[in-house]
Amino acid sequence: MTIATPAFVQGTKKLLIGGEWVEPSSGQYIDAVNPANGEVLARIAQGDARDVDLAVAAARRAFEGPWSQYTPHERRKLLLSVHDAIVDNFEELAVIETLDMGAPLARTRGYKEWLSQLLQFYAGQTGLRGIQQTPPLSIAPGFTAIKTLEPVGVVGGIIPWNGPLMGLWWIYGPALATGCTAVLKPAEDASLAALRVSELMMEAGVPDGVINVVTGYGKDVGQAMSEHMGIDRIAFTGSLPTAQAIVRASANNVKRLQLELGGKSPDIVFDDADLDKAVPGAGMGVFTNSGQVCVAGTRIFVQRSIHDEFVERLSAFAKTVKIGDGLADGVQIGPLISQRQLERVQHYIEVGSREAQLVSGGQRLAGEFEKGFYIEPTVFANVSNDMTIAREEIFGPVASVIPFDTEEEALALANDTPYGLAGGLWTENLGRAHRVSSGIRSGTVWVNTYGVIDPAIGFGGTKMSGYGWKGGREHVESFLYQKATYFNIA
Ligand code: NAD
Repeated sequence: MTIATPAFVQGTKKLLIGGEWVEPSSGQYIDAVNPANGEVLARIAQGDARDVDLAVAAARRAFEGPWSQYTPHERRKLLLSVHDAIVDNFEELAVIETLDMGAPLARTRGYKEWLSQLLQFYAGQTGLRGIQQTPPLSIAPGFTAIKTLEPVGVVGGIIPWNGPLMGLWWIYGPALATGCTAVLKPAEDASLAALRVSELMMEAGVPDGVINVVTGYGKDVGQAMSEHMGIDRIAFTGSLPTAQAIVRASANNVKRLQLELGGKSPDIVFDDADLDKAVPGAGMGVFTNSGQVCVAGTRIFVQRSIHDEFVERLSAFAKTVKIGDGLADGVQIGPLISQRQLERVQHYIEVGSREAQLVSGGQRLAGEFEKGFYIEPTVFANVSNDMTIAREEIFGPVASVIPFDTEEEALALANDTPYGLAGGLWTENLGRAHRVSSGIRSGTVWVNTYGVIDPAIGFGGTKMSGYGWKGGREHVESFLYQKATYFNIA
């Protein structure tokens, strides 16, 4: 079935500042390219530090204006109106996301129920702000005190391209729940869904200046936001080097940071695992979204006694994964985001071919696909944990299968990485499931499954995968700061 291109996907897209759609100060625009065929879909504004100043000023005015007086009930009602606007227009949003960043419709449409739950979750958290407790005091009699949670202020959200339709809610959701205001900077490679979502939110009644969007390059917009004295907190999702730049720039006003970074997550398959589940589970744990997933289980540790069988079955599975234009029927994985990302993944496949044994995939798709940025699901076998392809985040559909002998060895290898975002294991042995899951040093561990995340639980990283937690009550609380007020009532 032919899918119509939404009317939104054309022309030039401006910046959202203080409730108005405005031209960027630079007067420049960036091509929004469809990764499925290299065609230009629309052009997004190339914002810079001047636009960041304007957006932060608008967000500050909104934070201090009538928005600060919204009751929890009013914020809840607003979040539910936003929920309805997003759910009612979800088909359009899913198509925009697929066109702009390549994920198949099966994936982008699949966000609908999850996002609906997430927005309802945030709507249920609007009462977190306010009086937390009135503790009994041990100081001199005649005093009392209250502890309150107050919104931190203007929050900057910097997000990557691998799933902006989902990623932007980690900023907008808690901001609306707590009464903060937001300046969002989507990735230059995929901004269209964020722009359309923001437009729908304004129509749903979000007050002017509560959300602002400055599109553009990281070195201009992201850097200016990170340095900005008027931004109180940055919620960042992206790569480690960018996070390090943000940490340095944020020293200007010691702003609070939430950093959700990359990973090189282990997925351990023991010889007692149910391979009918483990093969597709671990396979899609790497290949889904063409491997452009922060939690991708790219290091698949397989017990030596089943290594060869597992590799054979994983390669066979990889060949069944339908790759193509995300708008086409039955497609399971789409293209990579850009020519640059394609070249990066090709580079790692070349390095891997010298280091280890390439058993399937590894080629760029040709023929009808040559204008897009497609790469086959790729499996390397007999990888060792110190090889480049097992150390560095590739962010492509590339699995490294690493043999191991004992449980202790598997755990030691799994933890031998600078990252700590996620991990998985496949076993039918309950004791082993507990031992190994508690031993993996990462923010999330999946046992006999991979990649599920509940909105009320959320996820986050440890080690060099960053800090801060997305989703769950702690996430909303991280948009609030604690305040104590003492009263002399003698
Ligand atoms: P990236 O760090 O290059 O870009 C992310 C965002 O930061 C973009 O909006 C970019 O414009 C901006 N940026 C770039 N330079 C900047 C600077 N100097 N100052 C401020 N902002 C700047 O990351 P990417 O390549 O777009 O995304 C892939 C990375 O994101 C991977 O490492 C992946 O693992 C990670 N990621 C993590 C999660 C998570 O939740 N942990 C989720 C998705 C992606």
